[in-house]
Amino acid sequence: MTGRGPASGEGVERDEFELPGVPDGFQRLWTPHRLAYVRGEDTSVEQPPGCPFCNAPDRPDAESLIVHRGEHCFAVLNLFPYNPGHVLVCPYRHVADLEELTDEELWELNTLTRTAVRVIREISQPNAFNVGLNLGPAAGGSISEHLHQHVVPRWTGDANFMPVIAQTKPLIQTLGSAREDIAGAWPQA
Ligand SMILES: [Zn+2]
Repeated sequence: MTGRGPASGEGVERDEFELPGVPDGFQRLWTPHRLAYVRGEDTSVEQPPGCPFCNAPDRPDAESLIVHRGEHCFAVLNLFPYNPGHVLVCPYRHVADLEELTDEELWELNTLTRTAVRVIREISQPNAFNVGLNLGPAAGGSISEHLHQHVVPRWTGDANFMPVIAQTKPLIQTLGSAREDIAGAWPQA
């Protein structure tokens, strides 16, 4: 392993508001295996002090939802996914702007993004992806002080009527099992 920090720790308690996640206006209806297991995320709660992207690498992967640790950057599941398998790729360093990245960080940000697309495509067979950066709060980034690249798998028809009428997205997979799937399929260097 070339990255930093602990890499194990199944079964640990997860403190949602210290973990990497980009809150949005949606609540989430969790439907793992389509059972009647409903969980609503309260995205109106503010994040506590401290940067979740800086804190995540200090925690075990299973707790922080990290799917891969690189040398300069890491990939982590978004705690507030737009779709199952929504991955964020970020540098370990707390930098806000693209211009602040070193060549090494920029290279690894993009190679990890490419691998994330490859892995998610293999696991979930999405029809398309949205990949990109929101630089600055006005661009829609709610944790804009620590740069992160979104990798969002898309399926035809995934923006269905539910987000529109109820501000609720149905997700068919828990974050823990999604992390295990992606981390397990990530190629080892
Ligand atoms: Zn940070």
